[in-house]
Amino acid sequence: MKFQAHVSEIIRRSEHIKSFRFRRPEDFDYKAGQYIVVTLDVNGKSISKPFSLSSSPTEKEHLEFTKKLTGHEYSDALDSMVKGDTFNISGPYGKMTYEGEYEKIALLSGGIGITPMRSICRYCTDMSLDTDIVLICSDRSEEDMIFWKELSEMLSLNPHLKVFQTLTRASEGWTGSRDRISETLVRRELPDYAIREFYICGPPPMVDSMVEILRSLSIPDMRIKKESLIGY
Ligand SMILES: Cc1cc2nc3c(=O)[nH]c(=O)nc-3n(C[C@H](O)[C@H](O)[C@H](O)COP(=O)(O)OP(=O)(O)OC[C@H]3O[C@@H](n4cnc5c(N)ncnc54)[C@H](O)[C@@H]3O)c2cc1C
Repeated sequence: MKFQAHVSEIIRRSEHIKSFRFRRPEDFDYKAGQYIVVTLDVNGKSISKPFSLSSSPTEKEHLEFTKKLTGHEYSDALDSMVKGDTFNISGPYGKMTYEGEYEKIALLSGGIGITPMRSICRYCTDMSLDTDIVLICSDRSEEDMIFWKELSEMLSLNPHLKVFQTLTRASEGWTGSRDRISETLVRRELPDYAIREFYICGPPPMVDSMVEILRSLSIPDMRIKKESLIGY
């Protein structure tokens, strides 16, 4: 589906990350984990980039995507947008989806790769699914924990959700994990890894390294769904 959207709300998630919301057309159906393509006029050129939907299909009024601001021309054009401005949307696309088909899932996210994971966690929580979810988030620093407050709220609503956060360049005050996601970490945080369905999203090197780890744990490729945020 293709349509023109008007920005209805802009949410600053951190110094370098913003979410953009717009009205969800009534006939726009999507699955948690899918992405859209956003086309903007950038200095007289039409440029299109893919973004995972950070909104959930249970959120009927709006669609949302969340962009890490890079200072490059497309990013700057998006960053300068205000309420009422327009962009063109096409989608939904992507097969890294969840609709309740597996009993136990593990979500491995790196940096801005949290966006489709937020969608999946919100979907399962809003639908009161009893899916056993373990979300493992790896970020650089506290600033990147953009959905932390909302995930904390979901944790109080959804007894089947568990979140493990690790920060590789945390401030001195951080008392949580500083480890990278490794085979040891997966074995420790997901002792039942052999019976889980895996979802991975992040920059391509992170996704590749997660796939290697899961293969070394003898997880078959058919149990791994992934979205590489190509462009990073
Ligand atoms: C399926 C999918 C889903 C995605 N979902 C998201 C999402 O939810 N959120 C999100 O933020 N992104 C997402 N992305 C990535 C997104 O599409 C963009 O590629 C990304 O945001 C970078 O776009 P940009 O225009 O800001 O940077 P670009 O200009 O495309 O630059 C990308 C990278 O290239 C390098 N680079 C480019 N130009 C220069 C230069 N002149 N000098 C030095 N280095 C340079 C930098 O490392 C830079 O970070 C997704 C990608 C895919 C494929």
